[in-house]
Amino acid sequence: MCELEVFGDYYRGCGHFIRSYYSGEKFDCNSQTCGISSAHIHKAPNCRCNKTPYDHQRVVNMFHTPCDECRSFDRLPR
Ligand SMILES: [Zn+2]
Ligand SMILES: [Zn+2]
Ligand SMILES: [Zn+2]
Repeated sequence: MCELEVFGDYYRGCGHFIRSYYSGEKFDCNSQTCGISSAHIHKAPNCRCNKTPYDHQRVVNMFHTPCDECRSFDRLPR
């Protein structure tokens, strides 16, 4: 499966990776049955191959706290 390089922040407190931006860098898996690989063999646009790239996560900042979303969730009354 192909991957797109994405930069972001990793929050160890909750284990979430929050994306900042995609660099445009692509890691091609060279699979003939991967819809977004340059090695893809099917010509029909509606073939059943996967066309969703995975994230290739690049951690820019590492935080020991939970991410903003998890923090605000924590603050909600239970
Ligand atoms: Zn692929
Ligand atoms: Zn295909
Ligand atoms: Zn989180």
